[in-house]
Amino acid sequence: MPDDFRDIGPETAGGCATPETLEAAARKAGQGDLLDRYKADYPVGPHDKPQSMCPAFGSLRTGLRMKRVATVLSGSACCVYGLTFVSHFYGARRSVGYVPFDSETLVTGKLFEDIRDAVHKLADPEKLDAIIVTNLCVPTASGVPLRLLPDQIDGVRIIGIDVPGFGIPTHAEAKDVLAGAMLSYARKEVAAGPVPMPAAGKSDRPTVALLGEMFPADPLGIAGMLAPLGLAAGPVVPCREWREFYSALDCSVAAAIHPFYTAAVREFQAAGRPILASAPVGVDGTAAWLTSVGDAFGISAAKVAEAQNQFTPAIRAALDAARIDGTITVSGYEGSELLVARLLIESGADVPYVGTACAKSPWSAPDVEWLEARGVTVKFRASLEDDLSVVEGLRPDLSIGTTPVVQKAKELGIPALYFTNLISARPLMGPAGAGSLQQVVNAAMGNKDRMARMRGFFEGVGHGDTAGVWEGDPNLRPDFRAAHQKKLDKKARADKAAQMI
Ligand code: SF4
Repeated sequence: MPDDFRDIGPETAGGCATPETLEAAARKAGQGDLLDRYKADYPVGPHDKPQSMCPAFGSLRTGLRMKRVATVLSGSACCVYGLTFVSHFYGARRSVGYVPFDSETLVTGKLFEDIRDAVHKLADPEKLDAIIVTNLCVPTASGVPLRLLPDQIDGVRIIGIDVPGFGIPTHAEAKDVLAGAMLSYARKEVAAGPVPMPAAGKSDRPTVALLGEMFPADPLGIAGMLAPLGLAAGPVVPCREWREFYSALDCSVAAAIHPFYTAAVREFQAAGRPILASAPVGVDGTAAWLTSVGDAFGISAAKVAEAQNQFTPAIRAALDAARIDGTITVSGYEGSELLVARLLIESGADVPYVGTACAKSPWSAPDVEWLEARGVTVKFRASLEDDLSVVEGLRPDLSIGTTPVVQKAKELGIPALYFTNLISARPLMGPAGAGSLQQVVNAAMGNKDRMARMRGFFEGVGHGDTAGVWEGDPNLRPDFRAAHQKKLDKKARADKAAQMI
C-alpha cells in the first residue's frame, strides 16, 4: 500500500457526480456559508486543486489518535471502506463507527435521525469524552445537519464536522477542520467555568502550544530549547486527549509549526494568544524562532542570545558532521515541506524546488523568504503535474515526494524517498533534527548506480502495452486505437463548438 492514494470513492472519481455538482447541491442544501468559510480558510488558487488522498483521512486519523474519543463516519459505503482500510493500515487499532444510508434515508432526513440514534447509543461517559461525527461528500452535499446534534449527551461531547472532498483541498487541512472544531468547543467550555486539569498536570512556567503533528522527539526538543528562556512547550495540537485542549488554550503563545492550521489559529487568536510563524529548524531557523519567542514574551535580548548560543553551535556541528552533496527536489502534502528544504540546504544540498499541496499562509512567510533568498522556487498548491515536470526537467540526484512522484523518479532511474513515510517520520527541530535527515538522504543518493542498473534490467517492462501480466506478446490493435482516437477528437471538436455557441 503506498503512502498516498487517489480519491477512493466513486462520487468524485468515477463520474457519478462531479465536485462542481456536489458543491452546487451542497449550496442548495443550505451549506453555502460552510463552503465559503472553507474557501476562505483553505484557498485553492492560483493553481488548481491539488491531487491528494481523500481529505477526510486527515481528520479521521486525528480523531482515532485521541484517547476516549469515538469517531463515526457518515458517507458512501465505498468511501468509508477505503477510509477505514487506510486508517487500519496506519495502525488505528480502533473501531470506526459508520451510519449507512440509502437514497431514501438521505432524502427523507432519516439519515440524520440514524446518526442521532447512533451517537445516543455510543455516548457512554464511562468510556468516552467525545464523539466525532464526520459528514463525507454525499451527506455534506445533501445538507445533513450535524449542527442539530445535541452538544453533549450525559457529558460526552458531540462534535459534528463536514469534510467534503469538494470543499477541503487536502487531508492536512482536514486535520485543521477537526482541531478547530474541538478547540472551539473547548474554548466555550473554558468560558463557561472551571474545567478539569489535564492528566499530565499543568506547567508552572508560561507555555508555547505547538500546532502540527510532529515526530514525537520534536516537542521534547522544542521544550529543551524553551527551558533556558523560562518557558515550557505546551501540548501539541491536534491533542491526544480532550483535556489537553484546555492547556493548549491556556498557553501564552501558540507556535504554528505547521502553517496550515487556519481554523485552529482562529481559535487561539479568539482566546487572545499571539501566533508564531515558522519553526526551530537548522541554525538560521532556530535562531530566528527563538528571537520571535523572546519578542512575544518580552524576554531580554541577552537571555535570548544565551539560548541561541547554547543550541545553534550544536545544530551547526550536527549539520557539519554529515554533509549532503547533490541536487534534491522536495514535494509533499504534509505542510512541513518548506522546513525540510531549509534543513537540506543548511546540510549542503542544492534544493531548486519545493512544492507543497498546502496553501500559502502568514505562518510560512519566513520560510518562503529564506528559501527564495537562496534561489529556491516555492510552489504552494503544487499539482502532481508541477512536481512531475520538475523531476523530469531537473533530473535531480534525489527526489523527495509523494508516491506518484517517487514512482516517476524511479522510472527515470532517479533515487527517491517518500516524504510521508521516510522524511516525516524523523525529527526536524533543534539539534536532534539537524543530524537526522543526512543519513537517509545520503544512503538514497548513493543508490544512483543501482537505480540505473535496475532501470536497465526492467527497460520496457510495465509501460504502455507491456503493462500487466502477459503469457504471450500483447495483442496490439493499432486500428482500434486509431478509431477510438478519432471518436475522442470528434467529441472534443463538438464540445469546443458547443462552448462557442
Ligand atoms: S468522501 Fe468524497 S473525497 Fe472522500 S473518498 Fe468519498 S467521494 Fe472521494
